[in-house]
Amino acid sequence: MSKYTGPKCRLCRREQEKLYLKGDRCKTDRCPLEASRGKRAKGVPGAGRKFRRRLTDFGVQLREKQKLRRYYLITEKQFSNYVKKAGSMKGTKSSNLFKLLESRLDMVIFRLGIGRSKMEARQLVTHGFFTVNQRRADIASFLVKQGDVIEFKKNVLDKHPALKERLDEVDPGKAPAWLKFNKDLMIAEVVEAPKGEDIKSMYFTELKENLVIEYYSR
Ligand code: SF4
Repeated sequence: MSKYTGPKCRLCRREQEKLYLKGDRCKTDRCPLEASRGKRAKGVPGAGRKFRRRLTDFGVQLREKQKLRRYYLITEKQFSNYVKKAGSMKGTKSSNLFKLLESRLDMVIFRLGIGRSKMEARQLVTHGFFTVNQRRADIASFLVKQGDVIEFKKNVLDKHPALKERLDEVDPGKAPAWLKFNKDLMIAEVVEAPKGEDIKSMYFTELKENLVIEYYSR
């Protein structure tokens, strides 16, 4: 499946769940899913009339898979490759999958609060704003590992005063435990590999990740 470029809220409406794709707006009542609460439910995009029918086991697995894939805004090909890679690593497959997804450079920038949304974080990465271990890193899917040091490229913040000003509002204390963010130096370090179990409990209380794995085990 090719890259989705349509409205982000449509994806949440399809999954009937907040996927937090638009940064701060998602936490306010300007979110369409919040606004429609208590009112007559809007149609579910892409579901057609069949949506009212009871989902098959396959349908339930598919929806859980789509939910997780859309949360990370990645293509089917990339997602299935992560599932394959997770299976070849030590430990549980679902935990490894979370670990891989959270190790993406764009997700690290988002978790640090440097990007207000996942898309913005991805854009900052692809524009070549960062280095990893002092080497240019402009690939969003670059996987960081324990000990890696991520920093803004020299002069980037001088050239983008608006970004510099906005970064003043970033609270380094909100970074997850596996990342250490020194805001004064604008340097972040991956202090440990992200743990799948922690990621699940922090961000996906409703997700049934075993169904995602089952979807790819058919
Ligand atoms: Fe989803 Fe955010 Fe849009 Fe709400 S505002 S529907 S959470 S992308």
